[in-house]
Amino acid sequence: MAEEVRSLNFIEHIVEEDLRNGYSRESLRFRFPPEPNGYLHIGHASSICLNFGLGQRYNAPVNLRFDDTNPAKEEKEYVDAIKDDVSWLGYEWDTECYASDYFQQLYNWAVELIKQGKAYVDSQSSEAIASQKGTPTEAGTESPFRNRSVEENLELFEGMKNGEFAEGAHVLRAKINMASTNMLMRDPVMYRILHKPHHRTNTDWCIYPMYDWTHGESDYIEQVSHSLCTLEFLPHRELYDWFLDQLVDSKKLRPKQREFARRNLSHTVVSKRKLLQLVESGVVNGWDDPRMPTISGLRRRGYTPESIRNFADTIGIAKRENVVDVSLLEFHVREHLNKIAPRVMAVLNPLKLVITNYEKGKEEWLDAENNPEDESAGNRKVPFSRELYIEQEDFKEEANRKFFRLKLGGEVRLKNGYIIKAESCTKDEDGNVIEVQCTFDPKSRSGSGTDESLRKVKGTLHWVSIPHAVTAEVRLYDRLFNDATPDGHKNKDFMDFINPDSLQKITGYVEPSLKEAKPGDQFQFQRLGYFNVDKDSVEGHLVFNRTVTLRDTWAKLEQKD
Ligand code: ATP
Ligand code: MG
Repeated sequence: MAEEVRSLNFIEHIVEEDLRNGYSRESLRFRFPPEPNGYLHIGHASSICLNFGLGQRYNAPVNLRFDDTNPAKEEKEYVDAIKDDVSWLGYEWDTECYASDYFQQLYNWAVELIKQGKAYVDSQSSEAIASQKGTPTEAGTESPFRNRSVEENLELFEGMKNGEFAEGAHVLRAKINMASTNMLMRDPVMYRILHKPHHRTNTDWCIYPMYDWTHGESDYIEQVSHSLCTLEFLPHRELYDWFLDQLVDSKKLRPKQREFARRNLSHTVVSKRKLLQLVESGVVNGWDDPRMPTISGLRRRGYTPESIRNFADTIGIAKRENVVDVSLLEFHVREHLNKIAPRVMAVLNPLKLVITNYEKGKEEWLDAENNPEDESAGNRKVPFSRELYIEQEDFKEEANRKFFRLKLGGEVRLKNGYIIKAESCTKDEDGNVIEVQCTFDPKSRSGSGTDESLRKVKGTLHWVSIPHAVTAEVRLYDRLFNDATPDGHKNKDFMDFINPDSLQKITGYVEPSLKEAKPGDQFQFQRLGYFNVDKDSVEGHLVFNRTVTLRDTWAKLEQKD
């Protein structure tokens, strides 16, 4: 629905214009092209939603293409995780493609370029090549190997392919223009020697094509109509076009590269390299640690595909980079969980409460509504007894009139249950309250009888019955970084801004209906927030993650400053 009402983004305008100019709808094809060198993060979600969103809008196929040209950093584990994440987000790709499937074709084309005098083998060190690049205002220097004969180039290139040379001995370069104002056009490297097995082609190859050489050609092979990438590739477009100019068959479709801005999220980093650093340094417990901005981390934390898609749709795409506040992402998950998450009661910082006029050993099963936002969710029973836990912060011996919770001599309603009055309390040696003694009004039970009998009191507290409570491990998360833009500081490393208190593990008490909860199940712990069952949960040891608090406590704090 949202899709219909929002206006077109600038990429959609480009596609619309192409259609108006005679481009056929049938030839539209998109792709999402991750490099399998890490797990996908929330920035990638924007690119996924953009490309697959276009596929849905125009009923066009979208490929999932793995840009796997660097065997040193890529692994099958990442390929599998990426597939899981894209599917989980709710998208279906047309074809699963790998740049490595095009290695032979790319090699043949490279040979073709050599034959046309448009590529040569350079036998200088990478340092020497770098030192000849020049500067944006000064032309580069031509390599002494630039004018090698076609025969010599062909022989050397074949030798590179056959594993006759050590890494670094030679590279293949495109012969373009060492004086170009675009540094990327100054005879870019197309192939380097790497004696490393590849996760798919194993030891078939010991030369690997560079990203710039591979990417555009892969789009062309797949006949992708619109190749969308992030802005850092804008200067690469000229090179992308140059390569296509040399090879394109005019009867075939020529892909069009267009750029959009990377999305950054506040209080975190969205770069696979930096996320890998967090994993390898042990700051987090793996790529799917619930504090990570990875899709798998967000999923484990309790984010839903809908909430991430709605977030991506709301921020849309832009032509300029900016930082999106993480509270917007939290807003979307809260909004979705509010609709779908059953309400339950849990106490995280327990204070014992004894109802002195309630019969010892008695229990009552009270009716409780599962979700006021969703009538079809039905009701359940929660057990009530003489001894309950409430939250420590819900009781004060004395408090002013604005404190609508429990204080000595004051009354509150227990959610789904009775009105109680605090009569006295017991303290430990340090003066901390360790027990509250109350009396209850037997006629005040909610849902029991007439309206007159239901007295109104200001406060309602959640609680759990002590003899029925299920003990659970509860993991509370805070932001992983103390700074809104941890990687945006000139003289400081993003690792300097790690929040040491981003994970707190506590023991909580939950109502017995949760005993059978399974990993992934989601709940609203009333008055506390949204929680889900973590994958670490096993029978007899429940583990919950706090997905998000009920309200945006950070926004409130930040406003006060
Ligand atoms: P990283 O720096 O995290 O490794 P990347 O761009 O190198 O990112 P790729 O695997 O190459 O990662 O990205 C796949 C696609 O997702 C590319 O089209 C890329 O432009 C896009 N993408 C990556 N990061 C973002 C982001 N933060 N916002 C929007 N799109 C992104
Ligand atoms: Mg990359």
